[in-house]
Amino acid sequence: MLEITKENIEKAIEKARATKPKVRVIEFRRYAVTNKTTGANYEVKFYKIGNQKFADCTCPATKICYHIGASIGAHIVLASQMHTATA
Ligand SMILES: [Zn+2]
Repeated sequence: MLEITKENIEKAIEKARATKPKVRVIEFRRYAVTNKTTGANYEVKFYKIGNQKFADCTCPATKICYHIGASIGAHIVLASQMHTATA
């Protein structure tokens, strides 16, 4: 599980904007991310423990990757739509 910080998620979002992968919602906090060029498919999960946010991705990266960066945009929108849940 990787901790999301302001710094690492900004970098991941930046990379996601350049790569533009396809993001599909599996369920709240679970996303399928597809690289349109390679067709590679990974699953991203978000967790919240106290005030800290964490994410997991099934790709080989050992840091906050662009799959997580691509998913968090969808996640923030979805979380804000759910009144009782928090991102
Ligand atoms: Zn990844």
